[in-house]
Amino acid sequence: MIDKSLFKEYAKLAVRMGVNVQKGQPLVINAPVEAYELIREIVKEAYEAGSSRVIINYNDEVATRLGYEKMPMEELCDIPEWQKSRQQYYIDKKACFLHIVAEDPDLLGGIDPERINKSMMARMTAMKEYRYYTMNNVGQWSILAYPNLAWAKKVFPGKSDDEAMDALWKAILSTSRIEAGKTIKNWEEHNAEVKKHSAKMNEYNFKSLHFKNNVGTDLVVGLIKDHRWEGGCDKGTGWNVEFNPNIPTEEVFTMPDRYHIDGKVVSTKPLSYNGNIISKFELEFKDGQIVDYKADDNYEVLKGLIEMDKGTKSLGEVALISYDSPISNSNILFYETLFDENASCHLAIGACYPTNIKGGTELTKEQLYELGGNDSMEHVDFMFGSSDMSVTGLTYDGKEVEVFKNGNFVF
Ligand code: ZN
Ligand code: ZN
Repeated sequence: MIDKSLFKEYAKLAVRMGVNVQKGQPLVINAPVEAYELIREIVKEAYEAGSSRVIINYNDEVATRLGYEKMPMEELCDIPEWQKSRQQYYIDKKACFLHIVAEDPDLLGGIDPERINKSMMARMTAMKEYRYYTMNNVGQWSILAYPNLAWAKKVFPGKSDDEAMDALWKAILSTSRIEAGKTIKNWEEHNAEVKKHSAKMNEYNFKSLHFKNNVGTDLVVGLIKDHRWEGGCDKGTGWNVEFNPNIPTEEVFTMPDRYHIDGKVVSTKPLSYNGNIISKFELEFKDGQIVDYKADDNYEVLKGLIEMDKGTKSLGEVALISYDSPISNSNILFYETLFDENASCHLAIGACYPTNIKGGTELTKEQLYELGGNDSMEHVDFMFGSSDMSVTGLTYDGKEVEVFKNGNFVF
C-alpha cells in the first residue's frame, strides 16, 4: 500500500514548483485513474494558488491496451476534430499543463508495431500545436510520476504487490527530493546546483564533445553554434513564469548540430518505447545521420522509431548527468524515461528544443533546421552514460578540456 502521508507535499511541489500555476490561469491535468486521491490534493492546491479552472483528463492503461487490440485501424488513427479544438482552446487560454505518468513498461507488448506507429503518428500530427507550446516553453508544463502495480512489479519483481508499490512510491519520493516541510527548499537548492554546471558549460562554449567508454561508445557530438546549456527550472517564453518541466531532474542539456555527429553510441539502459522494451542497442552516425543500427531485441520497434520521419535519423538533445546522482545511486532501473534519463548521460533521437540556441524561439522551423537544429515529430531520450564515461570538450580555438572523468563532472 502507498503511504499517502506525503500527498500534500507532492501536490505542493507539482503546483508551486512544477507548473507554478498563476492567478487566473487554467490548469489542465492528464492523469491515470489510479492517481485520483493525489489529483484531488493537486486540484485543491491549484485553486489555493489562484487557478481559474482545473480540467482533468483521466486515462486508463487497461482500456488503452484494449483499444490497441480491438479497434479497427482507421478508428485507432482517427483523432476527432473536437479533441484538437479542445486542446487548442486551453492553449489559447494560456493554460499550464501537468502530466502524471504511471505506466506498465510492457503495456503494448505483443501489439503489432505498425498499429502502434501509425496511431502514434496520427496523435502526434494532431498534437502539433501543443508540441510547439511545450517544446518552445511558451507556457508552463510539468511531468511527474505515480506508481501503479504493473510498473511496480516490473521494477521490483521479487516483492509482493504491496511491497513493490511501497518501494516504487518511496523511490519516486526520494528521487524527487520530497521531504515533509522541506521539499520546496530542497528544489531551490538543487536548481542552484544544476545551474552551476550549465553556466560553466555555457562559459566554455564548446564546438563539440567527445564521449568514450568501455562498452563501445566512441562518439563526437558537434554542438550547434550559439547553443545554450539549460537545466533545472525553465522560464516560460510566453509570459516569463519559472517552472520545472521534469520532476525529478538532474540533467543539463543542449542542442547537437545535426550535420556533425560521428561515431558509435551504445545504450547502457533498456529503452521503454511505446509500451515495448529494447534492452540494448547501438547506433552508428556519419555526418549527423544514423547510418546503421543494431538491437538485441525488439529490432522492429527500434526500426519503427528510426524510420518514422526525416528527423528520427538524427539527434535533438545531448544531456550530461553525473553518474553519482540520486537516481543512479538508487541502482533502480525504473523502465520510465522520466527517471532513467536522470541516471546517466543521454541523447534524444528526434526534435531539438528551440530554447537551446540563442534566440531560438524567434526562429522559424525552417531557419532552425537550416542552422543545424533537428526537426521531427518524435523526441525519444535514451541512456548511454556509464561509470567509466569520459567526456572531452573541444573549444573553437582547438583546446581540449576534460568535462567528465569516470562518469562524473570534473567541475
Ligand atoms: Zn534530457
Ligand atoms: Zn529529452
